[in-house]
Amino acid sequence: MSDIPAPEKANETAGEDFIRAAIRADLAAGRVARVVTRFPPEPNGYLHIGHAKAIALNFSVAAEFGGRCHLRFDDTNPAKEEQEYIDGIKADLTWLGFDWGTHLYHTSDYFEQLYSWAVHLIEAGDAYVDDLSAEEIRARRGTLTAPGTDSPFRDRTAAENLDLFSRMRAGEFENGARVLRAKIDMTSGNINLRDPVLYRILHAHHPRTEDKWCLYPNYDFAHGQSDAIEAVTHSLCSLEFEAHRPLYDWLLEHLPVPANPRQYEFSRLNITYTVLSKRLLRELVDGGHVAGWDDPRMPTLVGLRRRGVPAAAILEFIARLSVGKTEGVVEVEALEHATRDALNPTAPRLMGVLRPLKIVIENYPEGESELLDAANHPQDEAAGSRQVPFGRELYVEQDDFMEDPPRKFFRLSPGREVRLRYAYFVTCTEVIKNEQGEVIELRCTYDPATKGGNAPDGRKVKATLHWVSAAHAVDAELRLYDRLFDQPNPAKVEEGQNWLDSLNAASLETLTGAKLEPSLADAAPGVPVQFERQGYFCVDPDSAAGKPVFNRIISLRDSWAKAAKKG
Ligand code: ATP
Ligand code: MG
Repeated sequence: MSDIPAPEKANETAGEDFIRAAIRADLAAGRVARVVTRFPPEPNGYLHIGHAKAIALNFSVAAEFGGRCHLRFDDTNPAKEEQEYIDGIKADLTWLGFDWGTHLYHTSDYFEQLYSWAVHLIEAGDAYVDDLSAEEIRARRGTLTAPGTDSPFRDRTAAENLDLFSRMRAGEFENGARVLRAKIDMTSGNINLRDPVLYRILHAHHPRTEDKWCLYPNYDFAHGQSDAIEAVTHSLCSLEFEAHRPLYDWLLEHLPVPANPRQYEFSRLNITYTVLSKRLLRELVDGGHVAGWDDPRMPTLVGLRRRGVPAAAILEFIARLSVGKTEGVVEVEALEHATRDALNPTAPRLMGVLRPLKIVIENYPEGESELLDAANHPQDEAAGSRQVPFGRELYVEQDDFMEDPPRKFFRLSPGREVRLRYAYFVTCTEVIKNEQGEVIELRCTYDPATKGGNAPDGRKVKATLHWVSAAHAVDAELRLYDRLFDQPNPAKVEEGQNWLDSLNAASLETLTGAKLEPSLADAAPGVPVQFERQGYFCVDPDSAAGKPVFNRIISLRDSWAKAAKKG
């Protein structure tokens, strides 16, 4: 094993995290010539934003120190792994902007080498075939305070072990009939060293090796050796692997591996109101609680992408996290903030009415319309402008009107004059209701002298509303998303409760009657736009010709903060 970096070296660059400090020290001391890291996903599901932390760390560290980062699929469990996930994971990395170049690997590429290393351990008396069942092995493993008990098969001869192991490979035994275990120490204080299982029998079709194997190494036996084969220098993983490091090191010491990687553990990303565990995310998908792995409410990278969250927002959010050893929970507001920050400078401003209320401008000539100039981004002249049609019949937002407004409501109400954005001042003259007494239309007048939105006599209005011309409007479905959970820590359940009880019943609101300005008919899928005063949206792949579906990426302001203050 390489030496542990001297602590004074580890702090060379102020503010640097412990991993970068260790790498810097290894390079300075000549322990490492070229930094090699890897991102090792198991292709048993789609990646979530927690994985983005590991991806960004591995790829950024390699780039910063002139090294390289491998993508390695940890495909040792054919029962749960699928090609769909392999393809999805690659697409996610590419979307985030990371490139593994030619360094794409699979643990299954090393099955033959790993097998021969298992034989090496057996020959050296460091591994044995155990006939105990998984249950019996568990029962004899002991606890944190009590030592384990030796298996009655522990002292088999190397010859007998070799014979059994080769017959396990040959397919002579059923799943679970026998396992290969390392012979370390059943009394070790570290349970991972109590003769850990290295190989199990699994008669299953593998996406890559197909039916060649019915014997598969587990994570612990595969990981360090794969790192060594690829000459990985710094094997970065999350803290739950810390207790596995002694086994990682033990295997490298007992095998004739070509290199000596070192494992470093950092704290996982956890986010409030979110679950970041493939197992739980799969439960949401399989249970039909969401529409799929790419449901825009999911914290998966495919979900965030479909929602319209830019990769830049995710990278910025991740870059602000500390890389340390203390488990913490990051507030989801930090991700929301990064999302707004990424969208604000670039998303063009357009007009869309979510819940339309028709208004008729009685003094505007019937059958006529005109085109008005509208800035694409009021804070960015370079974004240019477009023309928006205006006519006698328009839509405004239902909640921009109140028949009996409280003192501080300055938007439309009977007799009140307001500005229509980029257009004219209008005054509400009459309220039309249906038989149920609901407001269904407003009658208004406009002041032709206020074209462009300013009065020549200098008179002011206190509200500016967005609007859409009825004759030109594009009908759209809008999907308004909110947090998938209404509890800050959904995965943590009290006794007698189910974590699914934390699902937010109002996490999706579908609006089918939205009216959008005509330029939105050509919005490109996945490209974020801002509906003025409403939020950021992007076209969802569910759109059909002439009937777009928009996802709300995020509202303009944090409505939860407001609700919390009120409550
Ligand atoms: P999960 O625990 O969500 O099921 P996993 O750890 O089983 O994920 P892997 O595909 O094995 O998923 O993980 C690949 C890499 O991503 C590992 O190195 C792991 O340490 C890292 N990783 C997984 N979840 C997180 C997280 N929340 N924060 C940071 N890194 C993570
Ligand atoms: Mg895991």
